[in-house]
Amino acid sequence: MIEVIPLGTGSALPSKERHYSATVVEHNKSLFLFDCGEGTQFQFLHAGLRPTRIEAIFITHLHGDHYFGLPGLLSTLTLLGHEKRLTVVGPQGLQAFLDSIPSRMKAHETSLDVNLIEIDPEAEYTVAYDSPNCQITSRPISHSVQTAGYRFQEKDRPGNLNVAYAKKLGIYDYTDYRALKEGIAVTNAQGIRIEPKEVVGPTHRGASFAYVTDTMPCEGGLKLAEQADLLYHEATFTEEHQQRAVQTRHSTAKEAATIAKEAQTKHLLIGHFSGRYKDTSILVEEARQVFKNTDAAEELKRYAIMDTVAPSEHLKP
Ligand SMILES: [Zn+2]
Ligand SMILES: [Zn+2]
Repeated sequence: MIEVIPLGTGSALPSKERHYSATVVEHNKSLFLFDCGEGTQFQFLHAGLRPTRIEAIFITHLHGDHYFGLPGLLSTLTLLGHEKRLTVVGPQGLQAFLDSIPSRMKAHETSLDVNLIEIDPEAEYTVAYDSPNCQITSRPISHSVQTAGYRFQEKDRPGNLNVAYAKKLGIYDYTDYRALKEGIAVTNAQGIRIEPKEVVGPTHRGASFAYVTDTMPCEGGLKLAEQADLLYHEATFTEEHQQRAVQTRHSTAKEAATIAKEAQTKHLLIGHFSGRYKDTSILVEEARQVFKNTDAAEELKRYAIMDTVAPSEHLKP
C-alpha cells in the first residue's frame, strides 16, 4: 500500500488558498517527495511528516514554484544531522542551482550526503530511482522548459503461502517456504516435486502513482499515467481560458481528464490551479464530463492506494 499526500496544489503566483507544488508518497517507512515549492517544509509540519524520512526527491522542472523550497529543506536536514544518503533527481541545471547556494546550505559542503541525478532531456525513459520495494521512472513532458513527469511503481509482492497445505504436502522447512514464495519448486521427503502455484496464493500487484505537472497534454504524460491507480495531473485552467493554457504550455481540467481516460487511469486528482479560481468545483465539473472519477487534490489529505491481487491465479484449498 502507498499513501499520496498533496502538500501544495497552487500554481506560479502565491495565493492565500493554496501552497506551491509538492506531493509526498509514503511507502513503508519511507517518503518520496515530488516537487519542493517554497514552504514545503512547513507543509511537512502540518502533515505530521518528518523530513528525515525522505528517501528521494524528484523535481519536475526549474520554475520557482516547483523547487525554491529545496535549499530550505536541505538546510533543515543538515541541521537535523540527517545521515542517510538522499537522492535528488531533476532536470539539467539543478546541480548548478544547488552549487550556487552559499555555505552550509550547499549540500556538498555539509555532512548531508546528496546523490544528485540530472535527467537527460533527450532520453525517452529514465529509471530515476530503484529499490527492492519500488521503482520511480521519468519521461519528458511538454512545458516551456525541460520538464520531467514521474511514475512511482510499487514492486509486486509474492502471494501468501498456505503453510498448513504445504505441511500436508510434506514441506516443513523454512528455506523451502522461502523458495516457494520466490517461485522455485521444491521436493518433499518422498521425492515429489511441489510447484509454487500449489501452495502460494496470487501475486499482489504493486500500487502505482503518476505525477504529471507542468505540461500540456502530451505523449509522455499519457505513458506515465497508463493504468495508474492514481494520477495527479495539472489542470491550471478551465475551458474558458484554453488559449491561456496553450500560451503558457499548461493543461485545462478537461485535457487532464482526457489523458486519464485514454490512459485508463483509475482515479484522477487535478491540481496546480491558477489563483483566479478560488473554488475548484468548476474545474472538477469540466473534468468529470470526460472522466468521472476525478477529484480536486486536497492539500494534506491522504489518498491510500492498496495493492491488488492478480485475478487469474487460484490457490488450491
Ligand atoms: Zn508550476
Ligand atoms: Zn512551470
